[in-house]
Amino acid sequence: MEDRRVGREENVRVYVRVRPLNKNESQGFVKGTIEIDKENDSIRLNNNEYREYEKYFRFHGVFSEESSQMQVYQLVAAPIVDTVLNGFNGTILAYGQTGSGKTYTMVGDHSSEELQGIIPNSFTQIFGKISTSAAYRSFVVTVTFLEIYNEEIKDLLAPNSDKKLVIHEHKKYGSFVKDLSGFTVNSVQEMMKLFTKGNKNRTTKSNAINTRSSRSHAIFTIMVESKNRNTNETTIGKLNFVDLAGSERLSRTKATGDMLKEASHINLSLSVLGNVISTLVDEKASHVPYRNSKLTRLLQDSLGGNSKTAMIATLSIAEIDYDESYCTLRYATKVR
Ligand code: ADP
Ligand code: MG
Repeated sequence: MEDRRVGREENVRVYVRVRPLNKNESQGFVKGTIEIDKENDSIRLNNNEYREYEKYFRFHGVFSEESSQMQVYQLVAAPIVDTVLNGFNGTILAYGQTGSGKTYTMVGDHSSEELQGIIPNSFTQIFGKISTSAAYRSFVVTVTFLEIYNEEIKDLLAPNSDKKLVIHEHKKYGSFVKDLSGFTVNSVQEMMKLFTKGNKNRTTKSNAINTRSSRSHAIFTIMVESKNRNTNETTIGKLNFVDLAGSERLSRTKATGDMLKEASHINLSLSVLGNVISTLVDEKASHVPYRNSKLTRLLQDSLGGNSKTAMIATLSIAEIDYDESYCTLRYATKVR
């Protein structure tokens, strides 16, 4: 099998994380149908009745049920956070069906250091670096937090987060959300407070709490501006954390009416995202279809170019999830 990782540094990296089975899922994939091969960063499906093709999926890294939050952070996120502190842009996304572990991976349980996910761990890395370089660099850190639901943008940190915001184009700086509130923060605690506040706004806006948060995309963005105290040379890096809407297909949710509308917006934006990322990976392709969804328009300056992108596809190996997991693996392979 061709290994595309050899010979060049890749700006787009794709990982898979399998979550542990919960109490109700006594049985995993029928014994032997899924094999996690950590050594070769790959997953193999051995179910011949089901599929004749595409049974071997290779990634930049595969995390099993036993992988810790810190292992995931060190491999996937720490290098990107480092890049952002040096003035480049980065994006970390979690993709997968609802219940497969996207929020666990991105956020985790932030009451415990061991169980906290990528986002809280990045706060620690950012402010750690700021304090160790304080003698020769000064930093300004600003955060924004928005949600895209049915292709409508909401500010999760504004007092009135029900207001719909629009994307504007700036000749030099590209797409931005007009009137989105940004907050300057000086510590891990301040950053966490804003993040928690935004998350509350995300979920309490709906009667069916879980539905709403799993049917929208959330983008938490950290801008890091730094200035050399001697030379005044400045750098700006932007880091986006994206908790994507659940990737489950329509038939499973038996959607009608409003839910159908939601589902078609989600399908569209996830497929545009897949197309954008796979175009970036394909060296021969020239046109990147950023403009086809709000999500990719907003991430345009942080996907491609010198930016670093990591996608973590989250997977359930419960038998009932076989088909969704197969789709997730195919999607993740396509963007790899
Ligand atoms: P999603 O955001 O994709 O809908 P969640 O992150 O909410 O899924 O995960 C669903 C459930 O599984 C949660 O109870 C979560 O705590 C648990 N879970 C997910 N991934 C893991 C993991 N790697 N280790 C332990 N528990 C996990
Ligand atoms: Mg979630």
